[in-house]
Amino acid sequence: MKEDISVLIALQELDTELSGFDRKIEEKKQELIAREQTIAEKEALAEQCREKAAELEQSQRDIKANSEEAAERIKNRQGKMMQVQTSREHQALLKEIEEAKKTIKDTEEQQLQVMEQVEAEEAKAKELENLCAGEKELLAEETVKVEKSIEKLNGQRLVVQEQRDKMAQRVPSSQIKRYDKLLKKREGLAVVRVIDAVCQGCFMTIPPQKYNDICLGEQIFSCPTCQRTLYYLPETEEADA
Ligand SMILES: [Zn+2]
Repeated sequence: MKEDISVLIALQELDTELSGFDRKIEEKKQELIAREQTIAEKEALAEQCREKAAELEQSQRDIKANSEEAAERIKNRQGKMMQVQTSREHQALLKEIEEAKKTIKDTEEQQLQVMEQVEAEEAKAKELENLCAGEKELLAEETVKVEKSIEKLNGQRLVVQEQRDKMAQRVPSSQIKRYDKLLKKREGLAVVRVIDAVCQGCFMTIPPQKYNDICLGEQIFSCPTCQRTLYYLPETEEADA
């Protein structure tokens, strides 16, 4: 029995090492994804600015049409002036001309304002697009680096995986099934140490009689709370290790 538990402990150590590789690899991948997302967000923002500028250009055309219409109206009313017979008609035409002139003046200001807004939106879009282009270049370089380091990690992982597979063959098949199941269910930790009667997996206290049995190391015991396989290691042995 003492032999069995030491193999399980070694297996757990190798599995912990493997999940460490998996975590590192995943972190590196996530970093790249996060950077891609940041760029995509900026690109979407730039696109919004372009759309806004296009909308503003459309309203600029509408304003221009208003202005042209007013100019046309002035010409028309000035023509009619020649034919008026009463001062009331004359006054009415003058008023219309004045209003049209005011419209032209207003639209000039509006056009200027909208033009400035268009320029601002386009400048913002351009700035964002430049930023994205630069960041994409950097990301491409970083991606190559990350891929290389993932490749290296995978190589190291493979060595550990081979050791793990060999070690697993030394564990009786009934035990390995339970071990694998626990490993999945308990976040990669199936075999844990007991220190001062406390399970180091779930940190619950082990009943005294059971703790005494575990300390003897004659049999394999499970934690009554988390079901992880428990083992006891005297303090002195730990210091030696
Ligand atoms: Zn436990």
